[in-house]
Amino acid sequence: MKKEPTVICPFCHEQEVLSKTLTAQSNQNVIFTCPSCLESITNIETSKGD
Ligand SMILES: [Zn+2]
Repeated sequence: MKKEPTVICPFCHEQEVLSKTLTAQSNQNVIFTCPSCLESITNIETSKGD
């Protein structure tokens, strides 16, 4: 079984599957939306490398 990466919501501290919370934008920004509390964070910087 494939284990999906998860993220802890900074608002309600629920653990959510990453793929359900992140929406990629065409400008390469990512929006995090928590399915539990529906809070969202925009302009998440994703870094590749390191
Ligand atoms: Zn939340």
